[in-house]
Amino acid sequence: MKLIYTSENRFLVGNAKNIVENAGIEVILKNQYISGGVGELSPLDTWPELWVVHDSDYEKASRLLEDTLNPGDTKEWRCGHCDEINAGSFEYCWKCRTER
Ligand SMILES: [Zn+2]
Repeated sequence: MKLIYTSENRFLVGNAKNIVENAGIEVILKNQYISGGVGELSPLDTWPELWVVHDSDYEKASRLLEDTLNPGDTKEWRCGHCDEINAGSFEYCWKCRTER
């Protein structure tokens, strides 16, 4: 199990959970409900956390979240198969269809 996303804004964490779940990836929320005692914990300890249940899903889920939560990120990438430069929003090489 791996931590994939956390934020002090639990709406954002819930949103991230929906995105990943819709892709068929099993996730769980931790620290979803805080039952008092907040004064004794550092604020970071009480942030809701999104965890992927299966480590093998981690990469897929983190890429999914990155793409969805940072749509403005248009960093270019180079295709490992044909060396073509692709726009950051492309999931596949436009030239040879190799997955990013
Ligand atoms: Zn290519």
